[in-house]
Amino acid sequence: MATAAADHDPVVSGWRCAVCDATTPIDQALSWSCPHATGDDRHHAPQIVQRIAPLCSGGYANPFVAFRRYLAFDAFAAANGMAVEARDSLVRELDSLVAGVAGTGFVTTPFLRADALSDALGFAADGGVWVKDETRHVAGSHKARHLFGILLHLVAAERCGVAPWSPTTRPPLAIASCGNAAIAASTLAASVQWPIRVFVPESASPTVMGTLHALGATVEECPRLATDPPGDPCVHRFREAVRDGAVPFSVQGTENAWCLDGGRTIGWEMARHFEEAVEGPPLDRVFV
Ligand SMILES: [Zn+2]
Repeated sequence: MATAAADHDPVVSGWRCAVCDATTPIDQALSWSCPHATGDDRHHAPQIVQRIAPLCSGGYANPFVAFRRYLAFDAFAAANGMAVEARDSLVRELDSLVAGVAGTGFVTTPFLRADALSDALGFAADGGVWVKDETRHVAGSHKARHLFGILLHLVAAERCGVAPWSPTTRPPLAIASCGNAAIAASTLAASVQWPIRVFVPESASPTVMGTLHALGATVEECPRLATDPPGDPCVHRFREAVRDGAVPFSVQGTENAWCLDGGRTIGWEMARHFEEAVEGPPLDRVFV
C-alpha cells in the first residue's frame, strides 16, 4: 500500500526505445528522440517507462491536473528540482492561458454510448460502441493534448534552468500540418506568445490558413522542390527548420516523442470512466 506522500510522487522513470532498447533518463531536457536516431535513420520509437500504479484522478476535471503524477512532464520537472506545488500551478497557469485563446481549457471530454451505431454494427448486446468526443475540446481536436505535453516540458525546462535559451531568446516552434494539428499548435503557441512556423502544402484549405494567420502563426507554403527527395515537402522543410534550431512541436512521435505524454490523458479518462461507471471487462477493441 502506497503512503500518502508517495501518492504525490511522479511515476515515470524515463524512456526506452522500442526498436533498439536505448534508454534516456527522465531528467534530460529536450529528449525529443532516441539517442540512436539520426537524420537518415528515424526508425526509433521512444516509449515512456513507468511502474504500474492505481489510476487516481482526485476528481479534477482537467486531465493534466487530475493525472499529473502519471505524466512524464511531472517526473521531468521533479527530477530537475521543481516542487510539487510549482508543478501543479504550472499546469493550471498554462491551461488558463490556453483557455484565454481557445475559449476552453483542458477538460475531461464526453465519453458516451452511441446507441444508433451500436445497433447498426450489431454490438448493442455486448455493451455497445462508445465514442470519445474531442470536437469541442481545445482547438477542436485531440491534437492539443499531445502538444500541451510538449509545452509543459518546454516551460518547465525554462523555469528549471535546463533549456539552452531564455524566455526572451526562444527558438521558434515548428510543425508540418495542414489541419487540426497546425491549429492546435498555433493555439498553444499563441497562449504563451511563442513564435511558431507552420509548414503547409500549397493545397491547404483557406479556412485553415485564415485561422492560422489569426492566431499569429508564420505560415509557410511548401511547393515540391526539384531537389526534394521522395516524401512530403512540408516535412522536409519542417526537418530543415528543426535542424537549424527550431523546436519540433509535432504530434508525430518520430519527430518529438514527448507528444506521447499528453495524448495518454485520453486513455486515462476512458479508463477512469469504466473504473467508476461500468462493470465487467471495459473494452474489447479501440479504434482511433
Ligand atoms: Zn532507438
